[in-house]
Amino acid sequence: MGPVRVRVPAKVNLQLAVGPVRPDGFHELVTVFCSVGLHDDVTVTTSDETRVRTTGPEAHLVPAGADNLAARAAEALARRAGVSSGVDITIDKDIPVAGGMAGGSADAAAVLLACNEIWGLHWPAEELVPVAAEVGSDVAFGLLGGVAVGRGRGELLEPVGTTAEFAWAFAFADEGLSTPEVFRTCDRLREGVDVPQPEVAEDLLAALHDGDAAALAASLANDLQPAALALRPGLADVLAEGTRAGALAGIVSGSGPTCAFLCPAEAVAAVVGAALAGLPGVRRTRTARGPAGSPQLAPVNP
Ligand code: ATP
Repeated sequence: MGPVRVRVPAKVNLQLAVGPVRPDGFHELVTVFCSVGLHDDVTVTTSDETRVRTTGPEAHLVPAGADNLAARAAEALARRAGVSSGVDITIDKDIPVAGGMAGGSADAAAVLLACNEIWGLHWPAEELVPVAAEVGSDVAFGLLGGVAVGRGRGELLEPVGTTAEFAWAFAFADEGLSTPEVFRTCDRLREGVDVPQPEVAEDLLAALHDGDAAALAASLANDLQPAALALRPGLADVLAEGTRAGALAGIVSGSGPTCAFLCPAEAVAAVVGAALAGLPGVRRTRTARGPAGSPQLAPVNP
């Protein structure tokens, strides 16, 4: 079979509740993932060995070899499915690297979907989930897109049906943040605190169901935000400027440092994006709608 291309969206966490550290060292999480309309395009074709190439302005920040999450996904699926060949992967990257938007996980999910097709496996999505979870905590959500509640490390997913769509503005930072470092900082900030078991915010799910942007704005919550702000204090000014410019709320996306702004309309998101551009530490801004749909797989025309 010829090459296939998968267009995968980035995510923001509308809620990210970080619970106690588990015996395996991971934190118990409850999160509400929401895909947004920023995408990587991942092209996959059969090959003897697995190779990865990344294009786009941030390509130099993405590992080329076996450390790439996309390559790890291909290898994990090949192992489980008993496939001995590899794949040639080209990632056209638009999702910021180390930005808290799960770009690497999205690429890994894209490769699982593509390999399932080009290797003729035809596994149903639920069989790909354990392979995704082996590659990374956010990869299973990458298979789905839309909105989902994630539990465990984020890999135990329950899709949330919603027809609502919201307008977002994003401020991408000059430099990424390391997810493990943000979790370590979160632990340090909470030393001596009795951390409760995380629970999903029912208000937030109701706001999503109703398509109520103001109520959703009031429910956005990220337990990693204090840690991201401790590591990158300038983000507080970015968040303040976004709401001053008209956003209903601003939040650090996942482990950061991308800041996501929920806006009352697309025109306001454009104003917010323009107001944030040029702030110290902001590399570029974008607007997008979200929730976005699922990953889209299509054959590549020769
Ligand atoms: P998350 O939101 O899931 O915590 P993130 O968005 O903060 O992740 P990613 O862009 O997924 O971060 O990448 C984190 C690190 O993983 C990067 O610094 C990079 O070295 C490595 N990496 C491996 N594969 C990829 C990939 N395909 N795209 C981007 N980064 C990758």
